[in-house]
Amino acid sequence: MSVTYILAIDQGTTSSRALVVDGQGAVCGRGQVPFTQHFPRPGWVEHDPDEIWSSTETAIADALRAAGIGPQDLAAVGITNQRETVIAWDRTTGEPLARAIVWQDRRTAGICGELRAAGHEEAIGEATGLTLDPYFSATKLGWLLRENPGMRERAERGEVAAGTVDSWLIWRLTGGQQHLTDYTNASRTLLFNITRGRWDERLCDLFGVPRAMLPKAQPSRSPFGETSEPVFGARVPITGVAGDQQAALFGQACITPGQAKNTYGTGSFLLAKAGSKASTPSHRLLLSIGANAGLQGPEYVLEGSVFVAGALIQWLRDELGIIERAEDVEALAETAPDNGGVTIVPAFTGLGAPHWDPRARGAILGLTRGAGRAHIARAALEAIALSSVELVEAMNGSLPAPITELRVDGGAAANNLLMQMQADLAGIPVVRPEHTESTAMGAAYLAGIQAGAWASPAEVSSLWRADRIFEPRMGDSERAERLGEWRRAVERTLNWATEE
Ligand code: ADP
Repeated sequence: MSVTYILAIDQGTTSSRALVVDGQGAVCGRGQVPFTQHFPRPGWVEHDPDEIWSSTETAIADALRAAGIGPQDLAAVGITNQRETVIAWDRTTGEPLARAIVWQDRRTAGICGELRAAGHEEAIGEATGLTLDPYFSATKLGWLLRENPGMRERAERGEVAAGTVDSWLIWRLTGGQQHLTDYTNASRTLLFNITRGRWDERLCDLFGVPRAMLPKAQPSRSPFGETSEPVFGARVPITGVAGDQQAALFGQACITPGQAKNTYGTGSFLLAKAGSKASTPSHRLLLSIGANAGLQGPEYVLEGSVFVAGALIQWLRDELGIIERAEDVEALAETAPDNGGVTIVPAFTGLGAPHWDPRARGAILGLTRGAGRAHIARAALEAIALSSVELVEAMNGSLPAPITELRVDGGAAANNLLMQMQADLAGIPVVRPEHTESTAMGAAYLAGIQAGAWASPAEVSSLWRADRIFEPRMGDSERAERLGEWRRAVERTLNWATEE
């Protein structure tokens, strides 16, 4: 019997990965290649587009080798990628015209400030579901056009192609045949009208981005051309594309409203299915397009992020030196029965949703002479869980149905104590799947469904399996007390610094 193989490319912020997945959803081979981060000035973050491509090529070759197959054995290719990062290249030669400006890059804060002062924020929010922030692609593209002599004129003549990382990879994989993106990535640019499902001419004008340089946008599950034989070694259809967070939501088999996934990495990213109606969210949560959009109609996802999650554990390791490795935090925290009255608010870089205070700064509160390392370790894990509880509560106010369980992934989701605390403090079950590589699995599922390996999202959701379920065990009154304590601590950190 011949086996169906799908290749999932996961082009992330610090490394490019590839995964070969078979028709049962099992992972047969992996590749991962880190690449260079460029920090040319404070607040600037750049990637070399050629290195993004070469690291992806190597990751693919490694994954295929590990699976013991060749490119000709693949039924389909799926792509997921770091979102918002922008790349511009020459349509004729395919040469990048500048380094990629990465999502973390803050250089366009001034441009956002000017647009805000001119009163554009509300209309932008209504059209795009996003906030006016340098994080998103539009002002980054505006910067490239302004700072690279001649690029604007060339772009207006149609000689320049631009896009997010998915577009760049599709272009390279197809040997320059296709200039495409998917709705999930487009919805993170500030240039895409998420109600109409197309590029917004008014926003393109406002941000000074010629429409001619943008890719065609289409559903995540749809034909994105075929890989080029000289480039890839075989002609294989590219059939699934989605930005990393939406791909992870799909990979966690969250297909009905109220289902949500939380990723615990450096920061945490909570995404929930929001249904088919776009209503402007509260608390500066973001509304984006989901991976099923455009197939049976619109589909939206609500998104909130916490800047510091696993990074707090790194801080305990690298700055306080109370643990040697991140995973040691669990055993240390277990040696204390409770937090001993200690609360940590890790507002190292301000607070994100639902507070949005760039001037908040971190604090350790409630110290007594008896407080020790174990209490601090415990309070750190609680802080990660409590930050996500605030997101869940904020989201419940904007969702058609409240979140009933959290499907988790990311490095810190391996921590059982943290996951139990999360279930207790959120008051809902926390479910850790067998495969925590949700992002790549999401891309594989999208591509596989479109290529006919699986019949539907419902079928792939039957491939998803829970590894462990953490049920909430804390009583309502204790939970309310702990949340009250946390809110009082957060209050004290707000508006602390004099500058952002
Ligand atoms: P990213 O993709 O943002 O680089 P990962 O998903 O790889 O992050 O997760 C790494 C983060 O998780 C680090 O910040 C690390 O401190 C944290 N981490 C890893 N293992 C644990 C653990 N067992 N308990 C708590 N935090 C952990």
